Amino acid sequence: MDFSPGISYFLGQLGKAFFAPGSHVSLLSLLCAFFIALVVVGARRFKKGRRVRLKSLLRALFPKHIVMSRSSLADLSYFYFNLFLFGIIFGWALLSYEVLSHSVADLLTATFGPRQPPALPIFVSRTVITVMLFLAYELGYWLNHYLSHRIPFLWEFHKVHHSATVLTPLTNFRVHPVYMCIFLNILAVFTGLANGVGDYLFGQTTHQYGLSENNLILVFFIYLYVHLQHTQLWISFTGWLGHLLMSPAHHQIHHSRNPDHFNKNLGSCLALWDWLFGTLYIPSAEPEVLEFGVEPDRPHAHTIRGEFIAPFGRAALLLKQLIERRSQPVPLRAPEQKRA
Ligand SMILES: [Zn+2]
Ligand SMILES: [Zn+2]
Repeated sequence: MDFSPGISYFLGQLGKAFFAPGSHVSLLSLLCAFFIALVVVGARRFKKGRRVRLKSLLRALFPKHIVMSRSSLADLSYFYFNLFLFGIIFGWALLSYEVLSHSVADLLTATFGPRQPPALPIFVSRTVITVMLFLAYELGYWLNHYLSHRIPFLWEFHKVHHSATVLTPLTNFRVHPVYMCIFLNILAVFTGLANGVGDYLFGQTTHQYGLSENNLILVFFIYLYVHLQHTQLWISFTGWLGHLLMSPAHHQIHHSRNPDHFNKNLGSCLALWDWLFGTLYIPSAEPEVLEFGVEPDRPHAHTIRGEFIAPFGRAALLLKQLIERRSQPVPLRAPEQKRA
């Protein structure tokens, strides 16, 4: 059996993931997150009058019990596995994105007539499209995440992400393929709709600003704090900023085992949609003591059996129960007597 096409595909995906500057896990963005974390931890130690040494900072940022935990090792396996799968599912979702985008532009043309692109400087049109697509991405992300928490069938697949008992930047990739498939297709619908409107308003040749085919605003947030959302480092945005942006502490609250924090902070980079839809929990400025994970002693929490296969069984059981409940005969009631 010839494995070389599979191996070269995997290496290609790995190269794109680490070396494309706009990728979700580029080495450059990881380095940026590392320096931000270093400065934050260093400044906090300095403020407390403690010595700031690189060795102690590194020890604080990469504690052995987190780096070597079973949870982190499971994250790493998921990262490699999903890297392999991402290109395939993404390619499929891209198809519906293109179809939807063209359909929306055609529908708007048929309804309101053809439109001459406005005489705006190109950078204005491109900026508007970039913002529209970013907001559409965030809204799609929020909706998919909301459904994954609220619908028991979908929760079984999203639970995999929440079963991480420690958070590292790789936890971002600890997602079940079924979750990823639904996520990418919901994203394709939202961004496809937004792109169709953008095409109609500004012409099909006007594109968003991007880096390695990713939205530039999204890339900006990946460099700024998205990696830090899956760490133990408490960086909290409060006040008006906490209503708009999803700080690392916001997302750590999302992973918390405290029932007060359940189903809160479902956005990716923005807290805006959570604020508008009533799912926002603004973290305190001072670190809160949090425990991560779904259930205290879930067996097989970090194994292929527990994380990959078991969700299919549990989801199928839920579906069976739902069908059985639906197919139960509804008792007939005698028609009510009309009052005279
Ligand atoms: Zn979640
Ligand atoms: Zn997370």
